[in-house]
Amino acid sequence: MKKNETLMQYFEWDMPSDGLHWKRCKAKAKDLKEAGITGVWLPPAYKGMRGREDVGYGVYDIYDLGEFDQKGSVETKYGSAGEYIEAVRSLKKQGIRVYADVVLNHRMGADEWEEVKATEYAENNRGVALGEAYNVGVWTKFLFPGRGGKYNEDTWDATMFTGTDWDEIRKKRGIFLFEGKTWDGKTDKEKGNFDYLMGADVDLDHPEVYARLVEWGKWYLEKVGMNGFRLDAVKHMNADFYRKWTRAMKEAFPEEDLHFIGEYWHSDLQRLLHYIEMTEGAVSLFDVPLHFNFYNASKEQGRFDMRYLLANSLAEEKAHRAVTFVDNHDTQPGQSLESFVEAWFKPIAYSIILLQKAGLPCVFYGDYYGIPAKNIGPVTELPLLLKLRELYAYGEQVDYFDDANVVGFVRKGEEEMEGSGLALLCSDGAGGRKRMHLSRKFSGQVFCDCVGNQTEKVLIDANGWGEFSCDGGSVSVWVPETTYEYLRINI
Ligand code: CA
Repeated sequence: MKKNETLMQYFEWDMPSDGLHWKRCKAKAKDLKEAGITGVWLPPAYKGMRGREDVGYGVYDIYDLGEFDQKGSVETKYGSAGEYIEAVRSLKKQGIRVYADVVLNHRMGADEWEEVKATEYAENNRGVALGEAYNVGVWTKFLFPGRGGKYNEDTWDATMFTGTDWDEIRKKRGIFLFEGKTWDGKTDKEKGNFDYLMGADVDLDHPEVYARLVEWGKWYLEKVGMNGFRLDAVKHMNADFYRKWTRAMKEAFPEEDLHFIGEYWHSDLQRLLHYIEMTEGAVSLFDVPLHFNFYNASKEQGRFDMRYLLANSLAEEKAHRAVTFVDNHDTQPGQSLESFVEAWFKPIAYSIILLQKAGLPCVFYGDYYGIPAKNIGPVTELPLLLKLRELYAYGEQVDYFDDANVVGFVRKGEEEMEGSGLALLCSDGAGGRKRMHLSRKFSGQVFCDCVGNQTEKVLIDANGWGEFSCDGGSVSVWVPETTYEYLRINI
């Protein structure tokens, strides 16, 4: 049978700008495979406005993957174009799917500004115009002088954008909609209309813009050979755009089995479901509601009602389109969407996303390796949990989310996965015990807690039941004794 898949987000915000990341990825490809990772999401690879200091979301030139002297350097924060391509090849050689981070909502760091007529809109209600249109100076001329037309000779100007947030003439901040343009309706309704996020907002309705981005997508796939995409900021982009663009990519590369995962940052499940519907299922989404459940539980220090830990999550409602995660580069301390799950709760959250049946889990680099710049250590249980997922988290799942503190589930195992089957029990408050049913095939077997918090052994009774325990504010994962011995030797 097919083994469980697991993604890793292979970067965090505060990594050093040393130009060595692609080399690190290449060097780690084999280790990642051995750890049980089957897909890796790499950071945005093209030149951002801050050059070597740019994490990649301040996108300047999508054709410069660290190859041209632009924005102060040839290399990006992560290295050169050649090193990037080598890293992707090494990962693929290990059978790991590679997801490129694609930022098409906006552009930043234009080469020149130009004068256009625009109307200012209210920052917090993009449906309200603040007076008449007037002439403003906008940074929208992207000429890419350092690239000199290699790969593509297109330049960009205000006609390709919808609006921006800076008037160079008056040196004034504001939300400006260019004359003849409208905010895109098929975007999130936060702030009245959330088409505009930052920089120069790309006009995705413009036929020429769409054609250019399809051409670029094909070029990128051809040049780099990734087989997945992580799509940035999709709630700020016309849903029709990615519905069409993903189809165009699949048609151009039918042999690649391309995957697409969108970042729709909202805790409201209904909005995520609506987006999935609008894109006709072409795009999976990160399970943001589940992240916020974990975050809230970690903040409530034992007062969270654990019966609802998975409630209103994408994993629960649309498991095959859910990419579950605990944290990412935006939620880590100091970042724009800071909502970092507290350290004590991370082993619980990771146990759940890695061992439950629903969703494709994505492990955060900053949790796997730690975040040295913020003195945050790694989640030390992760190697064990990844191995549990790869080898033993199989079979039917039965949930016991039936108590405000102590909840859990069992996986009943699959014949083909020797030693598989497990029982998970966790608590955000006081510890406790719970009888859970594994199945009769485990009758007479002894189970041990491989996380190592509980030292007792549990004997599975003649009907396949066991009484499992966990400590307060922690998780225990119970596996057959033989599996326990294997893990003890190999992790
Ligand atoms: Ca937009």
